[in-house]
Amino acid sequence: MSDETPICSAKGCRADALWVLVWNNPKVHTPERRKTWLACEEHREHLSQFLGVRGFLKDVIKFEDWEARELPQGPPEVP
Ligand SMILES: [Zn+2]
Repeated sequence: MSDETPICSAKGCRADALWVLVWNNPKVHTPERRKTWLACEEHREHLSQFLGVRGFLKDVIKFEDWEARELPQGPPEVP
């Protein structure tokens, strides 16, 4: 994991990402492949529409939930 604050994927936007858009382009990706875009509150609608009209959008997940999902499933370390 990096300490960098995640930034919105919208062009020119430097806002913190609050959402993860999960997508797949069936023309170039295998069905199980997942690409992700990050979005701030303002661009979530715009970016998800962009993917949605093309039929690419699979899921929209809160960034904190996405991060929790990505963590390894092992038991917590006790010092
Ligand atoms: Zn943005």
